[in-house]
Formats: sequence, C-alpha cells, structure tokens
Amino acid sequence: MDIGIVGGGINGLCCAWQLQMRGHSVRLYERNRLLAETSSRSSKLLHGGLRYLENLEFRLVREALRERDGWLARVPGLTRPLRLLLPIYRGGRRSRWLIRAGLFLYDSLAGRSALPAASWRTARQIAQADPELRREGLVGGYAFSDGQMDDRALGLWVAGQAQAAGAVLQEHCEVRRVDRNGRIDFAGGTSVRHERLINVCGPWAERLLEQSGIGSPYRLDLVRGSHLVIDRPCPQAYVLEVPSEPRIVFVLPWQGRTLVGTTEIRQSLDDPVVCDPSERDYLLTAIGHYLPTAGDARRVSEVFAGVRPLLYSASNPAQTTREYAVHRDGALISVFGGKWTTAPALARRVSDHIH
Ligand SMILES: Cc1cc2nc3c(=O)[nH]c(=O)nc-3n(C[C@H](O)[C@H](O)[C@H](O)COP(=O)(O)OP(=O)(O)OC[C@H]3O[C@@H](n4cnc5c(N)ncnc54)[C@H](O)[C@@H]3O)c2cc1C
Repeated sequence: MDIGIVGGGINGLCCAWQLQMRGHSVRLYERNRLLAETSSRSSKLLHGGLRYLENLEFRLVREALRERDGWLARVPGLTRPLRLLLPIYRGGRRSRWLIRAGLFLYDSLAGRSALPAASWRTARQIAQADPELRREGLVGGYAFSDGQMDDRALGLWVAGQAQAAGAVLQEHCEVRRVDRNGRIDFAGGTSVRHERLINVCGPWAERLLEQSGIGSPYRLDLVRGSHLVIDRPCPQAYVLEVPSEPRIVFVLPWQGRTLVGTTEIRQSLDDPVVCDPSERDYLLTAIGHYLPTAGDARRVSEVFAGVRPLLYSASNPAQTTREYAVHRDGALISVFGGKWTTAPALARRVSDHIH
C-alpha cells in the first residue's frame, strides 16, 4: 500500500521503518529537520517509567520495559544499561517499603530482562561511591536498572534503517492540510494523495486536524519539560524527590557532564518552547539540596526544552497518563501521545490499523 506519514520525530520514523519493512511503500514528510522537536529534547532514558506505577499505568510500564530491553539488545552501540540510585532520606515522601514494593513490581513487569534487578545500598556504600551526595538523614537507597541513549543519534539510526528498507524521508516539507481520503496539501501549494495517511505530528497532531477542519477524538495536554546540562562529572545517576513535592527529578551522566531534568509546565504551541528562568531556578534548587556543585548556576553550560504530547486526562500534568492512542478515520490514521521508548510498539499498533 502507498502510505504517507506526516511528522519526522521518533514515532513517525519508527512507523516509516516498520511499515516499509512490512512491504508498504512509505513517504514521510517533516516540516523541519528530522528529530528537530521533542524527540531530541528528552531525558535520553530508555525506561519503563518507574514513576508511572504511582498512576497505576501497568500496561504501559510493561510495554515500555520490553521496548527498553529491545533497544538495548538491538542497538548496543548507541544505547547502554544505566544503574540509577534512588536515595531514601528520613522524612521522605515515599517510604522505604513502598519503594521496595514498586521496584519489585518494576522488575517483575520487565519479565526476563538481562538487566540486574533492584538492590539495596547502605548509606555508607552510597557515600563511598559519591561523597558529594547529602549525608544528613540518608537511610540508604535502591539501585535499579534502566537504559540510556543519545536520542538524536539513535533516532537518526532509525531513519537510516527506514531509508535502507526503501522509505523516502523528506525534510523541510510542511503539510498544511490533510483529509480523510489520504490527500495532503503542502505549504508550498502542491498536493498529493496516498492510500493511507498517518498523522504522527507529536504535539502538533491535534493542530493538524484542526487546520484541516477535522474534529479530533482526543485532546492533547501539551506539557513542557526543561533540562540543564551542568559542567561537572556525574559519578552516579540519581532519581531524587523534589523537597516537599511529590515530583522527582533525574540527575544523569551525559557526555562527561551532568544532565538534570525535568519540569512539567503547560505549553501553548503559539509560544516559543524555551526553559523559563523559574524552571532553571527550580531545577537548581532541587538538585542543590542533594548535590551542592550540581546546584551551582555558574556551571550550567546548556539548557533545552521540549513539549510532551500527552493525552489529556488530569488537571495536574504530573498525573497525566503517558498512554497513547491511535485513531482511524477513513484513510487517515492519527496518533496521539507516545513516549520515545515505546515508539516501536506504537508503530506496531499503527500497522494494525493499515488494511
Ligand atoms: C522533557 C522531556 C523529557 C522526555 N524524556 C523521555 C525519556 O527520557 N524517555 C522517553 O521514552 N520519552 C521521553 N520523553 C517523551 C518523548 O520524548 C516524546 O514523547 C517523543 O519524542 C514524541 O515523539 P513524536 O515523534 O511523537 O513527536 P516529535 O518528536 O515532536 O515529532 C513530531 C514531528 O512532527 C513535525 N510536524 C509537526 N507538524 C507538522 C506539519 N504540519 N508538517 C510536517 N511536519 C510536522 C514536527 O516538526 C516534529 O518533528 C520526554 C519528553 C520531554 C518533553
């Protein structure tokens, strides 16, 4: 079948690769460069999303854990297993037993993973491994497994696989309108028709339908997340509770420096996607509470922000579901939401709608 895909983020690219491999003829249109938006502004984790267990997203976490292991096994040169530490402090919001139960569930949902299961570390072991981490009130912590990648490099690898299979990927090609019969009108004034058309524009999926005069079955909740890159080595990856908040932040080794993120701020597509000074202060304060040099504003060497395309489900963006949805309307298939890690699973679900 002749298939057009609108959107060259990781979800569009995985769809292109998978559909081309299944014998279809695929052409992808991206208005910018491939991976220019959310897909290159992530926390660079291949993860199940331990935090989503608190929102009871068991299906999604299981799927994401399987996909995490799939990426690590398939592309070892651009991914790596990562051991994260979740330190536990006296008076913390989550008890040691709750965290232990959550990690047991996390490891169980991963099934037969090659990654080591979660394990307890004493306060002394933690301090020996990273003398800078705040000792006061430290009870111990759990080390657990996930994966890390270079989102841009891994995304370009997927693009290369799609092209090698025969898919055509067109950059700088903005789509103005689509219709239910598979027609695309480009910003340049030309048009084309495909037997099937996939709208996988991430945060812009609902907007493309709006500007095409097509009602959207789902509402997207657009939530910005910012990161800071800090000029200091990162001897240990952490998941840290933001003091007096239910949120957590990541501290991750990244190209010899420390990547800190993230925030959850509602975003309009009409405004620039940039890290607000208040987000920068928020991250530095949260991290500085545990790691003083990481919280030093003078060491911030890079800042970046992206918009999560989430399915609207809660007034608090931290509780919004990370599930995704695929909807078919005639020849037009639209994708709403979708994490980086789960892009191959999302592409399989899209394939099921092509017939
Ligand atoms: C701060 C942050 C941290 C994250 N961390 C992680 C993480 O560690 N692990 C993880 O698994 N997930 C993570 N995510 C989620 C993940 O990054 C995104 O869900 C995923 O990248 C979305 O990919 P996408 O292809 O759907 O969207 P995008 O990458 O945004 O791609 C959509 C593309 O469509 C194009 N487009 C839009 N409109 C048009 C048009 N009219 N014509 C042509 N092209 C168009 C855009 O230019 C864009 O390139 C994070 C997200 C954020 C914001």
